Amino acid sequence: MKQSQLLAPTLREAPAEAEISSHKLLLRSGMIRQTASGVYSFLPLGRRVLLKIERIIREEMDRIGAQETLLPSLQPLELWDESGRSDDYGPELMRLQDRHERPFALGPTHEEVITSLVRDNVQSYRQLPVTLYQISTKYRDERRPRFGVLRGREFTMKDAYSFSSTYEDLDTTYTAMGEAYSRIFTRLGLRFKQVEADAGTIGGSGETHEYMALADIGEDTIVFCSHCDYAANLEKAGYGMAPSRDISMALDTAQEQHRTTAKVKVHTPGMKTIREITQFLKIEAQDVVKTLLYVADGRPIAVLIRGDHEVNEIKLQKVLGAQTLELMPEEMSRELNLPVGYLGPYDLSMTVIADHAVTKMTTSVTGAGEQDYHYVRSIPGLDFTWDEVHDVRNAADGDTCPSCGAALSFERGIEVGHIFKLGTKYSDAMGASVLDQQGQPQVMIMGCYGIGVSRLVGAVAEQYAEDGMMHWPCAIAPYHVHIIPVSSKDAVQMKLAEEMETALSKLGLEILVDDRNERPGVKFKDADLFGIPLRIIVGREAADGRVECKLYTETKPEGILASSCSLAEIMDLVKQHVIPYL
Ligand code: ATP
Ligand code: MG
Repeated sequence: MKQSQLLAPTLREAPAEAEISSHKLLLRSGMIRQTASGVYSFLPLGRRVLLKIERIIREEMDRIGAQETLLPSLQPLELWDESGRSDDYGPELMRLQDRHERPFALGPTHEEVITSLVRDNVQSYRQLPVTLYQISTKYRDERRPRFGVLRGREFTMKDAYSFSSTYEDLDTTYTAMGEAYSRIFTRLGLRFKQVEADAGTIGGSGETHEYMALADIGEDTIVFCSHCDYAANLEKAGYGMAPSRDISMALDTAQEQHRTTAKVKVHTPGMKTIREITQFLKIEAQDVVKTLLYVADGRPIAVLIRGDHEVNEIKLQKVLGAQTLELMPEEMSRELNLPVGYLGPYDLSMTVIADHAVTKMTTSVTGAGEQDYHYVRSIPGLDFTWDEVHDVRNAADGDTCPSCGAALSFERGIEVGHIFKLGTKYSDAMGASVLDQQGQPQVMIMGCYGIGVSRLVGAVAEQYAEDGMMHWPCAIAPYHVHIIPVSSKDAVQMKLAEEMETALSKLGLEILVDDRNERPGVKFKDADLFGIPLRIIVGREAADGRVECKLYTETKPEGILASSCSLAEIMDLVKQHVIPYL
């Protein structure tokens, strides 16, 4: 490809809308452009990367016997009424009407469409198991589209759905899918972790894993063991717990000592946050007990948690067995006469749930339940109590692995894939069954499996972009070789560039030649943005058939630089470091 004909409008500066390196780089290199908030166009270079990711996904899906389909984005809302999700899905669902005022949605996901398709076209258990997939555009009216293609409102997803008549078959497909995902992400050159995730309270029957690309700007926190292979997302992560103290037990010696002074009320005007109160009292956050109010299925609930810990609402919702859970709205706490910011675990006329850690504190600072006052030296279990003790917090620094007891580590991640044993949630609701061996109707058992295809472009870029330079992994780079004649007016240089292009394309490599009549500085700047793994600079030594080479690959992230290379030497380099990774 001749660069003079390529539409790749590079930018010297990143537009203000871009906050993170990958987004800046994708814009600056002319790979993507924003059309509306969360809606992007892929230009030729970006499209090539996207297509290569799709190809790898297709190969691995086909390899495990999944069959490719293409399902409509325009979905009659009746299907969503059948599954009961038209209300549940909320404002993320993009709704529209046709000219006859029939309601439709733009598909954010395809459980409904695929379940109705399979229901109408698969009759016997003999036709199962079957796994269908597609790579298509999804629409979600995200509350906060951000970070470019990482969270769009229109994006490309690979979604697959499995149907089986036994749970064993679901397990087999689930395992095969997980292995395929690991191969896909490895081939893409992505640093990732597979983590246990939470199915939520309405999420179907079961097991679910997420695939996280490691990146500091990731919205998710990954909790993993420094010793064994335990890894979970923060919502799901457990931690090793010392047995909790039985509050009916006699106070231990430490408490007896604290008991010598009764709890003391202190005036703390305007100090509502943990930070303000710890600074004022010269204590640590872990000395404080926070009282938080929730509404679970309409019922007020108080949660006691240590000041340095965070409530895990998923764990809390599970413990409560609630369908809905939200922080108590301010109006409601006002109506109940509860002083927000100074809440304390005293005289609360509602169920009080204490996190384990609170029950192990020997003394604490709490809100006094009265505007502008806190209590110090308040003893958990004595000065205040609770109705139930549960694990309702996120794992935190210093916690140990629930599986082996070694220290837990924390890292940020971008969710790039998700596999989920759905069970019969949709097939039940939509009446999708087959006839079993006895000729009896049996509801099909489902799994669903997603990959954020366009998000992956951003996730890989986030891992490989550095100081405005990019080094795409060989397997998905827009081109493999970038040949740059220093002066396009120099006939000798152009001739050698052409020879090299011909020879290297015979090896199956894709080549971009910068034939533009630009200054070398401009060419090199653009090359830095394009991030093509092998760069060949044809300059002064062209007459001797020699060039300068720069190669960056996953195995050589520091780069191989070779001056004065012959074509034969380049061929060797390519055979060793590029071709095996394509
Ligand atoms: P998230 O928690 O990031 O919103 P999700 O749980 O809503 O993701 P799924 O419904 O499981 O995502 O969708 C499957 C995959 O699609 C995700 O793993 C992710 O990689 C991708 N994805 C989801 N939402 C978006 C989006 N708004 N933009 C780009 N990719 C997305
Ligand atoms: Mg989402």
